[in-house]
This record gives sequence, structure tokens and C-alpha cells, in this order.
Amino acid sequence: MRKPKLRELKEAITAVIKGPYTSKFPKEPAVVSERFRGLPKYHEDDCVLCGACAEVCPPGAIEMIQERLEDGTAKRRMVLHYDICIFCGQCQRACITDKGIILSNEFDLALFDHTEALETVEDELLVCEVCGEFITSRKHALWIARKLGPIAYANPNLILASQEELGLVDEIGPRPERPLKRNDNMRFLCPRCRRNLIQTDEWG
Ligand code: SF4
Ligand code: SF4
Repeated sequence: MRKPKLRELKEAITAVIKGPYTSKFPKEPAVVSERFRGLPKYHEDDCVLCGACAEVCPPGAIEMIQERLEDGTAKRRMVLHYDICIFCGQCQRACITDKGIILSNEFDLALFDHTEALETVEDELLVCEVCGEFITSRKHALWIARKLGPIAYANPNLILASQEELGLVDEIGPRPERPLKRNDNMRFLCPRCRRNLIQTDEWG
């Protein structure tokens, strides 16, 4: 048998005294580095469901689902499929609130069923009262209104969303059967329908 070299002997003695270099995961939680990019997590209070994160996600791991409900309202749901995610961090970087989605330190993501690898967040959608087009999420409209301050009062959708949040709107009332007129401007309308309303009111 060959005699161990001094360097190997030293390493063996150090390992016995200090313990192994490898981590004891999964017996003990592993400590990750400061800039580790783990599971991206939505933060409901800070996500306004604008959809920017879905736009920039390279592998298309974030799905934006918009649906009408039976009660006439609509909702938007952001679904992050973390079995597709490549943990690049682009969603966090592009988030308009900076805190809506943040990559956590979680890396132990093994599942028996990959369809359960989901992170979701949802909110009500504002819907055009004329054509039924989805405008944006209520949270997003309120976020824009707060960002714009007094300038938000140039946009009826933003005024309405803000006033409703403050409880200052009793009832907008159903859309009348007749063609909309200037006094119907204070309704939730998509840009195309608002343009038609103003043009019809001005030029017939
Ligand atoms: S970390 Fe990258 S791949 Fe994963 S959801 Fe965010 S943008 Fe998409
Ligand atoms: S607020 Fe941020 S996390 Fe939420 S949808 Fe927009 S970009 Fe994505």
C-alpha cells in the first residue's frame, strides 16, 4: 500500500475536525448564497395584475387568464408554472411595482405531479360597458391613478375606479338601450368605445 501524501493526510485530519465541506441537505436546510434565484413568488398586496411579467418571461412560464363570471363580472388570473420557469429573474426586474413578484430562496420544488407547480394571483377586471372588452384589472387602474395623481382625472375609467374605491359612487346604473351620449362618458369604456362616443356626440 502506498503511503498517503502529506497534503491528503492534512485534508483528512481537517475534515475530521471541521466536518465535511458538503451540505447536509436534506437532513438540514441548505444555506443559499445572497443572490440565489429560487422560486418566484407573487405578493398579492403588491401585484396589480398588469401582466408585464408575463410579457417578458422568456420561456412563457406565466399565463394570463381572463374570464367572465356568471354574475357578469370578470377576473384576471396570473398563473406562474414553475415547472417551466428557468429562474432568470426577468419577471422581478420588469415588475412595475418592484414588489409584485420576487424570487425567493426556495429551491426544493420536487413534486409528484408537475401540474401542481403553480403560483397564482387574481383580481377583478374592469369591463367595457358597451362592447364587453376587458380594460384592465381594477388594481392596475387604481395603481395608475395613484401614480398619476391629479392627472388621473383626465381619464373617466381612472376617476371611476378611484371614486368607487372611496365609496363615492352609489350606482352607475345599467347601460341605456339608446346610443350612448356625452353624459354617458362617466362609465367604464374601452378606448375604442369612448372614442366612438365622443365622435358621435360631436359630429353625429
Ligand atoms: S424567473 Fe424568468 S422564467 Fe421564471 S417566471 Fe420569471 S421571467 Fe419567467
Ligand atoms: S404587478 Fe408585477 S408581478 Fe404583478 S402582474 Fe404586474 S409585473 Fe407581474
